[in-house]
Amino acid sequence: MTRIGFIGLGNMGGPMAANLARAGHAVQVFDLVPESLERAIKAGCIVAGDAREAVTGCDLAISMLPAGEHVRGLWLSEGGGQDLLGALPAGAQVIDCSTIDVASARAVGDAAKARGIRFLDAPVSGGVTGAAAGTLTFIVGGESADFEAARPILACMGQNLFHAGALGAGQIAKMCNNMLLAIHMAGTAEALALGVKEGLDPGVLSTIMSKSSGNNWSLERYNPWPGVMENAPASRGYEGGFMTRLMVKDLGLAMALAEHAHSAVPMGALARNLFNLHASQGRESKDFSSILDLYLDKSQY
Ligand code: NAD
Repeated sequence: MTRIGFIGLGNMGGPMAANLARAGHAVQVFDLVPESLERAIKAGCIVAGDAREAVTGCDLAISMLPAGEHVRGLWLSEGGGQDLLGALPAGAQVIDCSTIDVASARAVGDAAKARGIRFLDAPVSGGVTGAAAGTLTFIVGGESADFEAARPILACMGQNLFHAGALGAGQIAKMCNNMLLAIHMAGTAEALALGVKEGLDPGVLSTIMSKSSGNNWSLERYNPWPGVMENAPASRGYEGGFMTRLMVKDLGLAMALAEHAHSAVPMGALARNLFNLHASQGRESKDFSSILDLYLDKSQY
């Protein structure tokens, strides 16, 4: 049994912390949203009064926050940050599972190292379903030995554990993945809308394409058409999944990475424009598969 401090109990962090508690660990949690704390109590977690209290007495702390500014604000002291690295003993391990910019991951990792704290950037893939089922993919950057030490804890929340390389490599791999995901999702919505407008049933068309060369994760596991897939966010009003605003953030991170690498990303740039347009039409908080709305006249379907 390990005592774990866990900060950020949103769509992903909530079920991840619950899986750690289910595995028998003492999980001390904190989030700014009171409802998520109530859910965490029901899941067997120990609720702390603030983030500092959550990591107190822990040799392992995990964060699952929206963006780099939140992660820096939690772990570092810069700009009025909470300096939670200062609340951990030397030799402790911090695992940040948020998807954030590489510079922030490296800044927190370097600050941790300076204090003798081991840091991994460990963004995840697999969505809320994977978080609930404990089948996430972890994409990890940092020292190999630290990755191996974290393996038993990560295995409580995920099935596929990858060491991508040095500090920051987890974020780079995750950005490549999410840029491809955005392209797949927009393309899947586009193809489904075309077929349905020409009279096909969305479920039949999805089955055909998922057994053909157009198959992809967005089609097969996260279908954007309401009712085609019972457990997908599309079938519950696009609530509780991966918010469009977070996909827009990830596409921004991918564009910055492309600029840094002098790498052409025309498909990624187009996807970014599409998701930006979609977000600007009041869909920021809806799951990103609601991009389907861009292609439909909703009064007809
Ligand atoms: P979310 O917005 O649902 O959850 C983030 C949580 O962090 C919120 O509950 C918020 O209250 C909390 N928070 C923010 N600042 C805090 C602070 N200072 N102290 C305590 N709590 C704080 O987001 P999410 O969907 O859970 O995503 C989290 C991260 O995981 C993001 O970086 C996202 O890009 C990534 N991600 C999400 C998915 C998905 O399908 N939702 C999949 C893979 C990766």
